[in-house]
Amino acid sequence: MSTLLSEVAAERGIKNFLVSYTDLFGHMRAKLVPARAIDKMARDGAGFAGFATWLDMTPAMPDMFAVPDPDSLIQLPWKREVGWLAADLYMEGKPVDQGPRNVLKRLIAELKELGYEMRAGVECEFFLLAPDGSCIADGADKQTKSCYDQQALMRRYEVITEISEAMDELGWKPYQSDHEDANGQFEMNWEYDEALKTADRHSFFKYMVKSLAEKHGMRATFMPKPFLNLTGSGCHSHVSLWRGEDNAFEDKDGELGVSELGYRFLGGLMEHADALCALTNPTVNSYKRLSAPRTTSGATWAPNSITYTGNNRTHMIRIPEGGRFEFRLADGATNPYLLQASVLVAGLDGMKSNRHPGERSDFDMYAEPHKVNGAKKLPQNLLDALRLFESSKIVKEGLGESFVSSYAKLKHQEWQDYTRHLSDWERDHTLDC
Ligand code: GLU
Ligand code: MG
Ligand code: MG
Repeated sequence: MSTLLSEVAAERGIKNFLVSYTDLFGHMRAKLVPARAIDKMARDGAGFAGFATWLDMTPAMPDMFAVPDPDSLIQLPWKREVGWLAADLYMEGKPVDQGPRNVLKRLIAELKELGYEMRAGVECEFFLLAPDGSCIADGADKQTKSCYDQQALMRRYEVITEISEAMDELGWKPYQSDHEDANGQFEMNWEYDEALKTADRHSFFKYMVKSLAEKHGMRATFMPKPFLNLTGSGCHSHVSLWRGEDNAFEDKDGELGVSELGYRFLGGLMEHADALCALTNPTVNSYKRLSAPRTTSGATWAPNSITYTGNNRTHMIRIPEGGRFEFRLADGATNPYLLQASVLVAGLDGMKSNRHPGERSDFDMYAEPHKVNGAKKLPQNLLDALRLFESSKIVKEGLGESFVSSYAKLKHQEWQDYTRHLSDWERDHTLDC
């Protein structure tokens, strides 16, 4: 976009811009900038104290600047006088190693050198809760198998359609919304696109869902496992590589319609998924989704081993049709940029090292888990995930040493904080020892 943002603002009636970035934990941080001041910000960036957010910086460090990407502009459909801009992080003129969007952009550039573009479609699941977050908002939503519940879906018609119409206005091409497997849980789908665009939209989607849920007197959460007995909130990502308008993962004669290149990319994901869990499943709570026993509905729909299959939802990777695969590992807490960066870092290694994904697992993982035969298990808690993450050479090379050490440092602090917490379970089980 070569036109000045102030001119775009005048044309579209934008009074203020949110210059926004996500920190390492995926929290959105922003400055609200009047349209009159936006051109200078677009050039120099909006100043932030990096230490004040989750980026592993010190208070003594100089200002960090968030430079908005004009191509990312989204005019808030529910508050048209505001324009949201995703920003890249700089300090003293250099890109910040820990900036999630910076990391993804670097990997996208590496893939471009090889002649490809990654496209992704994300499926963000979320719960609609009462404003204090203690229970689901809809007290009548009680079915044991509540997936696709028409009645409960239609009780949320106002908020769901407001979000869907907003996506439509923004040109995201939304095509379906449903009530998910857990009581109070929903999913809304829009078309896949180039990975950076999808990551920006994914970030914005979370902000939009939370904002519109608040407007309708509820609270939306993307927390991976808010209720132990109910299915958690995943964030499946559909992956494909393209050369121009040719899908490089598609091969009508290939197994399940996937090309050799697709299988090599998949080989990388199978190899590195456990080391990337710290990014795709970034919270203490994430591992309750991955290791939970069957929920009241009969399934968790979340993986616990590194396996792939055809059109079967009980494994980590599903190939529903030729030309793409569905990566079912990530959850609602994943940072949108780091989710795509994780897929890419693993896939790039798969391509470069000619990795084979191993045998397909075409059985029901819930009914016959013993059939996995030696497949690697996913980590069972954040600490195990962090240890794999920080000891992986490919992760360090692909994402950068300094990114990995900063991320691991902050997440170890989170783990320490958690272990200092004394639970009722411990007291109940140990008091009489
Ligand atoms: N909610 C499930 C998960 O935690 C996914 C359900 C589905 O297949 O859509 O991954
Ligand atoms: Mg779903
Ligand atoms: Mg899915």
